[in-house]
Amino acid sequence: MNYKNVIKSQNKVYKILQSEKLNNRLSHAYLFYGDKGTGKKEMAYMLACMLYCENGGCFECDTCKTILSGNHMNVNYIAVEENKTAISKEQIMELQEEYSKTSLVEGTRIYIVDGIDTATNSAQNSLLKFIEDPENKTETIGIFIANELSNVVSTIQSRCNLCHFNAIPKHELSEMIKETGVSELDSRLLSLLTNDYDEAIQIANDADFVNVRDLFLEFLNVKTKTEMVKYYVGHVDVFSINKNIAMLLAWITEFLLEANLYKSNNDNLILSPLCDKIEEYNKLVKNDVKGRLESIILLSDKLKSNVTPKNVFFELTFRFI
Ligand SMILES: [Zn+2]
Repeated sequence: MNYKNVIKSQNKVYKILQSEKLNNRLSHAYLFYGDKGTGKKEMAYMLACMLYCENGGCFECDTCKTILSGNHMNVNYIAVEENKTAISKEQIMELQEEYSKTSLVEGTRIYIVDGIDTATNSAQNSLLKFIEDPENKTETIGIFIANELSNVVSTIQSRCNLCHFNAIPKHELSEMIKETGVSELDSRLLSLLTNDYDEAIQIANDADFVNVRDLFLEFLNVKTKTEMVKYYVGHVDVFSINKNIAMLLAWITEFLLEANLYKSNNDNLILSPLCDKIEEYNKLVKNDVKGRLESIILLSDKLKSNVTPKNVFFELTFRFI
């Protein structure tokens, strides 16, 4: 997520940090928490920009660019390592070791621990003394990042300034995705698959996404039971893969939800680019959308339990028209 998007989607947190900086009241420890993909890591680097940038955080100058690209000497970042699921005690020890040395660059130092909620309680607790009293007495700001606040030990929570990051509303998320050059419809479809901006951009570049999107549009063109049987036979291989049927199901469910709510003014619908399809569908099923919606919502639960993707696909085609 770029800094402009973070300012927009997390304006409350941004404003608080900005005013704390202006009033020289920055805390020595922050805990940024909220859903994955809401800009917590980006905001941590932006806080560093506010601190080191001559303009108080312009996000454009060389200093800001160095920070945002993760290359500033005074900003240390640790996160869960590749193929691991948690931050290890060793990583935390190394960080403390690093901060017990004198910095090569003058000024406040920042360390970011991305995924504090993944560390064991004992690893988290080993940070406590460090938060309170960094050994070398250089001014230090710690920023802890967590998706799950409840997994952060209370002793850390109580020593930090807590900043909550809101989930990004679907419309806002799809606008952000669109700014990267993704089409209007694709942006909206992607916002229905994830709340995480970075993940959405990743999915946008996945060949399966493009393929399933085309098949979703084809699905909406099916008008009779006979055509639906053909559709099933033609695409059963694609939709025997969990990821693909989950995508189709997410979109069909939203389509039915919106068809069920459909009125004359529909600008606020996420699938508003498909308004004509929704209208056609409502005519086809004679506005009896509710029953279909209910049975198809149940399919998502079936997919999460033990029903095979193939059977879920079968039921979806069977129940849609
Ligand atoms: Zn700057």
